[in-house]
Amino acid sequence: MTVSRIPLYCHQCGGPLQANPNPNGGPPFRCLDCGQRVYLDPKVAVAAVVRWPDGRVVLLRRAQRDAAHGLWILPGGHVDRGEVAEVAALREVAEETGLTVELDSLLGVYTYPGNPVVLIVYLARPVAGELSPSREALELSLFSPREVPWDELGYESTGQAIKDMLEFLELDPL
Ligand SMILES: [Zn+2]
Repeated sequence: MTVSRIPLYCHQCGGPLQANPNPNGGPPFRCLDCGQRVYLDPKVAVAAVVRWPDGRVVLLRRAQRDAAHGLWILPGGHVDRGEVAEVAALREVAEETGLTVELDSLLGVYTYPGNPVVLIVYLARPVAGELSPSREALELSLFSPREVPWDELGYESTGQAIKDMLEFLELDPL
């Protein structure tokens, strides 16, 4: 699980922030110098279940050295401020897989307690390009739902989105 990094300094004046000791309300942080109330926003990310015509899906093995390093995830990434989510999904899939895809449907929105990420997942299909991993991937591969390495998935949402894809398309559950 990704844990929020706690901001230590006020973005208005640079003063030190104090965490709100009251669990029942109020802003989570307050600047000790200027009184600025600081709220932490969620982080919006997009990903795609890219489904091959034969039913296999594209997964990549994450190269970044974080908690999901070496594990299999869906192609995706963060939405830039002001960016349209669907555009971000097309951009991230192209960057990470070399594929141009079309988004067929919204598959789901995935959030987990204590995790700052709001992940929007689309169902997509390839229309051009060839599978070629970027530097963000150790490996790119196609898996049928039954072949998915369930014990080596990077995030809870990775497996959930694949299961939701099966349900959405009214395919046999695993
Ligand atoms: Zn301040």
